[in-house]
Amino acid sequence: MTDKMKSIKVFAPATVANLSCGFDVLGCCLDTVGDEMMISITPTPGIRITKIEGADLPLETHKNVAGVAVEALLDAYNNPTIGVDIEIYKKIKAGSGIGSSAASSAGAVWAVNHLLGTPFSNQELVAFAMEGERLASGNAHADNVAPALLGGFTLVRSYTPLDVIKLHTPQDLVMTVIHPQIEVKTSDSRSVIKEKVTLKEAIHQWGNVGGLIAGLYTEDYELIGRSLEDVIIEPLRSILIPEFENVKKAAMSQGALGCGISGSGPSIFALSKSMDTATKVATAIREVYNSTGLDFDIHVSTINNQGIKIIS
Ligand code: ADP
Repeated sequence: MTDKMKSIKVFAPATVANLSCGFDVLGCCLDTVGDEMMISITPTPGIRITKIEGADLPLETHKNVAGVAVEALLDAYNNPTIGVDIEIYKKIKAGSGIGSSAASSAGAVWAVNHLLGTPFSNQELVAFAMEGERLASGNAHADNVAPALLGGFTLVRSYTPLDVIKLHTPQDLVMTVIHPQIEVKTSDSRSVIKEKVTLKEAIHQWGNVGGLIAGLYTEDYELIGRSLEDVIIEPLRSILIPEFENVKKAAMSQGALGCGISGSGPSIFALSKSMDTATKVATAIREVYNSTGLDFDIHVSTINNQGIKIIS
């Protein structure tokens, strides 16, 4: 066994990306769903995934997003004497659309940075964690790793150069998420999206992005609700998710502010103004899904404004 120098156990949160109008740029961080990871700095150079519980994921460093993200960090740190051991206790199902791969990438780089005495800024950590996302989906997107690392709501204003902004989080917002346990192939959820949008659609969409951000800062819940609308991706992708329209109707009828696809699906999120409403939304969408015979999980969570947390 490797002689451990320093270890830390962290909570690596699930995240909801896109938030209807903000494809690839908006995301927010959850409190009650997430993985746990034990990260150790060791005197034996190299990066090792020493344990994975709760999921069948690759132990090979180059095939696991946590390994790839930490490798990007250590390359920049440029101290070849350092080694890292990673244990992953997976609670977020891979391919669920609530940032399973992002939690591992973000949790690993955050913990290593902490153990090294925080040589890197959050902005730099986002760039390292994005390398894990590149491995998972072929696209180094930041809309899950940014909220996992920074907490709350985040905006990726620009990818080149990377410019990630933490937004204001109104206290009363509560997320309800249903994860239907069906496989939606990333290739399918990509192939239904159009490469080009019309100017009319673009105007509608960026109006909503601005409205959502203004609503978050002014804590105008009705404005947040009006802005949770996606005229570009949702109409195309939602056909891959069973009962999407009925889930949305059920959520809205219980008073949700808005409802849409979480990330690339198949999870669906609904945002509400209170725990009471979010719980009623959960009951209503559970009823919709009970009739399908499909397995599903439902999560109700306040917004995690901190991001990754040290457990021990
Ligand atoms: P989600 O849809 O929840 O965001 P992704 O589809 O982005 O999840 O990521 C899942 C993919 O990443 C799977 O193909 C999985 O095998 C791969 N992967 C590699 N390492 C990990 C890891 N540590 N955690 C989760 N997924 C991983």
